[in-house]
Amino acid sequence: MGGQQPDDPAGRRDPGAHRVLRAARPAGTRVQVGTVEVGGPGFVVMAGPCAVEGTEQLELAARAVAQAGAHLLRGGVFKPRTSPYAFQGMGEPGLKLLVDAGRRHGLPIISEVMETEQLPLMAQHADILQVGARNMQNFGLLRALGKLRKPVLLKRGLSATVQEWLNAAEYILAGGNEQVMLCERGIRTFETAMRNTLDLAAVAWAKERTHLPVIVDPSHATGIPSLITPMSLAAAACGADGLLIEVHPRPEQALCDGQQAMSPGDFATLMQRLPGVLATVDRHLWTPAGPAQIAGAR
Ligand code: PEP
Ligand code: MN
Repeated sequence: MGGQQPDDPAGRRDPGAHRVLRAARPAGTRVQVGTVEVGGPGFVVMAGPCAVEGTEQLELAARAVAQAGAHLLRGGVFKPRTSPYAFQGMGEPGLKLLVDAGRRHGLPIISEVMETEQLPLMAQHADILQVGARNMQNFGLLRALGKLRKPVLLKRGLSATVQEWLNAAEYILAGGNEQVMLCERGIRTFETAMRNTLDLAAVAWAKERTHLPVIVDPSHATGIPSLITPMSLAAAACGADGLLIEVHPRPEQALCDGQQAMSPGDFATLMQRLPGVLATVDRHLWTPAGPAQIAGAR
């Protein structure tokens, strides 16, 4: 490693992260979520509302993303809100709605776990446990997730360096849970035109230096629906393994993050445009059989 510490991906002294490094698993980690594989040649799209709000809203969102070809259904039931007076999520009844909607449409589900106390419930029902940006360094939660054998999607903190992000992932791997996906969701910079600054170089960096799948969340990264398509295509081009996108059937009525929600129509168009970009980097949208078999079956 040319004089660098072997356990130091950024080239600075850091004795922490080594299990996450590419050298620990040169072929890369593939995370199995139900029948869906994340981190292989298939590009995986997770989509749905920011928050589960009720039966009808969720059904419309789930149906729309499933019909457009999404692979997983997202929906928050425990919401980390900046204001204590904002909608905090439906909690356990919302989780039941999410499970049912996922089953109806054949999609595994991803949902955020905010506290260690929520883990038994969430681990029983969610296929991927999402750690939100505000919890990236909740070390008690990370340690508890390390004891599980369940897929975890670890979002990058609002102002976290890539090194801090990797160390957070290292906590989970150190506990023995190797099913970790990193998620770049934009970082806070001096720029205020967008909600955050999407750090796509960090995505390419994490793909190069670690063996973990990397997912991009263009919704929180930009906060602007019209930017979600171009940033999704850019994420596909720069080596990301998938996307996490907020889609709402009626964005103007959303109880959470409505201003950044993609409409079902725009999401369907994005799904149609992704294969063209993915082909340029020898990837394809994930399918159970792989692209060749699907084409042959037609
Ligand atoms: C979310 O996915 O709805 C969310 C709260 O994201 P983040 O933790 O990235 O802000
Ligand atoms: Mn959100």
